[in-house]
Amino acid sequence: MQACILLNPGPVNLTQRVRTALARPDLCHRETEFIELQNRIRRDLLAVYGLPEDKWAAILLTGSGTAAVEAMLTSMVPADGQVLIIENGVYGERMASMAEVHRIRYTRLHHDWNQAIDLEALEELVDRNDFSHVAVVHHETTSGRLNDLEAVAKICSARNISLLVDGVSSFGAEAIEFGDWNIAACAATANKCLHGVPGVCFVIVKRDAMENTTVAPRTLYLDLKKYLQQQDANGTPFTQSVQCFYALDEALQELRDEGGRHQRQTQYRQRMQIIRDAMTALGVEPLLKDRECSCVLHAYHLPDKLSYQQLHDELKQAGFIIYAGQGAFAKTMFRVSAMGAITEDDMHRFANALKKIINK
Ligand SMILES: *Cc1c(COP(=O)(O)O)cnc(C)c1O
Repeated sequence: MQACILLNPGPVNLTQRVRTALARPDLCHRETEFIELQNRIRRDLLAVYGLPEDKWAAILLTGSGTAAVEAMLTSMVPADGQVLIIENGVYGERMASMAEVHRIRYTRLHHDWNQAIDLEALEELVDRNDFSHVAVVHHETTSGRLNDLEAVAKICSARNISLLVDGVSSFGAEAIEFGDWNIAACAATANKCLHGVPGVCFVIVKRDAMENTTVAPRTLYLDLKKYLQQQDANGTPFTQSVQCFYALDEALQELRDEGGRHQRQTQYRQRMQIIRDAMTALGVEPLLKDRECSCVLHAYHLPDKLSYQQLHDELKQAGFIIYAGQGAFAKTMFRVSAMGAITEDDMHRFANALKKIINK
């Protein structure tokens, strides 16, 4: 199979460097070589945002991004706590489903999928209730909106409410002010902005937020406290995906070599701009204003007389994978992401392919 340029929001095209890392020697997850690998990844993940190791910890889990988010919610909200879950897309709503499954006390602040967070409504809700946490998606991949965490954090910090952040599609590229935003935990994954392979996910936790709350484990596999204790003690509770760890290790070193998260953000912005300019020239309307969008993904209305399937299939024929809208957006929207080992030239070729299809 010929490799396509992946413009879906993860998994991403790998660099040769990361792909090669997958083939490193077979390794038992109880050997010192694995522990060194795990320790290095834990350090490097904190280093992406310059977080000091005495105050913060990266906890590594084998699973997709959803596992990290579920581990965060189930491990951070105590039985007598209550979480306000902000929904403006699929991933916010998924957190509410998790709270439901695990019988975590929660309230939702619901919005339509193309809406920004209603800060007045948030303020009113937190004043009328006694929330221990607010859970919010940073980049809501459903619409491409970068939620205004700074504004959310301002409201929450003033009331001593800490944030649980789904940073799955922003960690590694967008700014996350861990300390200033009163973040207790942030969940993310290897295969989005970090350019690793799917299979490893992680939660960055504030050590004292974890130590100062007692949460009876709601799940056996996703109990972050157990992971933290064992990983701090050079272990791991369960078998980790060794090859995925190899790839993430290499991807993190590559990120650092390329100039870190700021550089990645700049790179994504440049790629997105090329596509956005091309879309504007073709009369394809973006869902959101430029300043509302993440650097990672933009959503567009489908051009007239083209179904998603048609557009997808013809672009795939030309070597590009776009991504459908979810739920109600499936018939009206498509999404384009800028992550992975792709080039600005690929973006120009994509724009040309799109132009040919639309003008046919
Ligand atoms: C991709 C994504 C997830 C997790 O999805 P998985 O398929 O489990 O990796 C969670 N939240 C957001 C915002 C995402 O973009």
